[in-house]
Amino acid sequence: MSREGVTPQSEDFSAWYNELVIQAELVDRGPVRGTMVIRPYGYRMWELLQADLDGRIKEAGHGNACFPMFIPESYFKREAEHVEGFSPELAVVTVAGGKELEEPLVVRPTSETVIGEYMAKWIESHRDLPLLLNQWANVVRWELRPRMFLRTTEFLWQEGHTAHADEEDAMRETMWALGAYAGLARELAAIPVVEGEKTPSERFAGAERTYTIEGMMRDGRALQSGTSHYLGTNFAKVFDITYQDEDGKLVHAHTTSWGMSTRMLGGVIMTHGDDKGLVLPPRIAPYQVVIVPIGRDDAAERTAAAARDLAGELKRAGVRVHVDDRPQLRPGYKFNEWELRGVPVRVEIGPRDLDGGVVTLARRLGDQGKEQIPLGRAAELLPGILEDFQAFLYTRAERFRDEHTADVESWDAFPDQVSHGWARVFHCGRTDCEDAIKADTAATPRVIPSDAPEEHGVCFRCGEPSAYGKRILYGRSY
Ligand SMILES: [Zn+2]
Repeated sequence: MSREGVTPQSEDFSAWYNELVIQAELVDRGPVRGTMVIRPYGYRMWELLQADLDGRIKEAGHGNACFPMFIPESYFKREAEHVEGFSPELAVVTVAGGKELEEPLVVRPTSETVIGEYMAKWIESHRDLPLLLNQWANVVRWELRPRMFLRTTEFLWQEGHTAHADEEDAMRETMWALGAYAGLARELAAIPVVEGEKTPSERFAGAERTYTIEGMMRDGRALQSGTSHYLGTNFAKVFDITYQDEDGKLVHAHTTSWGMSTRMLGGVIMTHGDDKGLVLPPRIAPYQVVIVPIGRDDAAERTAAAARDLAGELKRAGVRVHVDDRPQLRPGYKFNEWELRGVPVRVEIGPRDLDGGVVTLARRLGDQGKEQIPLGRAAELLPGILEDFQAFLYTRAERFRDEHTADVESWDAFPDQVSHGWARVFHCGRTDCEDAIKADTAATPRVIPSDAPEEHGVCFRCGEPSAYGKRILYGRSY
């Protein structure tokens, strides 16, 4: 296999991304257009995210379930907005078992409808609420302009589906899920996301309110990497999810749904990567440390043995470590490869290092250059070095986001700001005004930030009074 490096990010962001996901062995192209094969290096990152989020979901009292991937087409037709929102993306099975089916089957693009059907069956009284379900699954949404991790025809995700007695409890759940996603993004992926609500035009099909986490990628675009929806009684009404309240009266439940997908990995790549390739936050790096023993002949045996010993110590200290002792490759080649694949810290052990009782350490980013640390203390020092690197990536991304976000008061200044970042603006909240902005600049309202202060002004484009009671973030998005 040859690795020629990737087109520099600074030259062509899109080419950089498309080449990198393949060369770093995260994915390969699937045989069907728009599908992806997730390779072990990429899947390990997903597993690390998944394990953390699954812990949060279970801790909060949800149970994992698994519903069928085939959904009767009639289920989709019950909720008008839902079917309208999803029908262009549906894959439908019409023939199975060698026969034309009486009713076509939709391959799930999301599972509100089938889960709604079973919630109706399982919920009878207020004592059955809240019903807190989650499933880890693959879903299918036919993509016309696919992009690895960001928009693929089939992707992996979790979808939470819950039913509650009233709006207050359902809203508490909606906000809990948003907080869990924000925590995952910040603490594991080191992405400084902005939390908040979507404007009505950006809502999930069939939702009353949609909340999102948005991160800024290094080309200044926004990536939505987790959403949480308060569905009101919309799905409860069409699927007949009712319960007997304490007075014996039959009332509709309030439902929520929320999802985080393999898209988050695209966010990690585009938040931290640079001209040389991936830069992985240690908490989701398949290998946090790669040790490269250096030397020929007798020296090679000595350094390889020292590398294996150190790897053993690091494993006991809870560090994910890999020893690259492939004999046929030059050290420089290995260094480039692990840089491209984003390994946070590389440890080199040469014969002279061994004689001096040290190892040479190189971080994937930062201006500290190479550093020598005592071999005998390496296993004790590296966990702290990795934690510092994790924090450094978060701070760096946060600084980048803040430097590329600005208040914009007038239409004149807007196109330039959204060409490289986000604009913080007053907007009138009218759909025709949103549409006109999108037609001219491709920018859309990303989020009404939860933590923005209360402010009022006039719409930067049309001059009408502002909606939302605060400034909102506008930008181009993935
Ligand atoms: Zn306006």
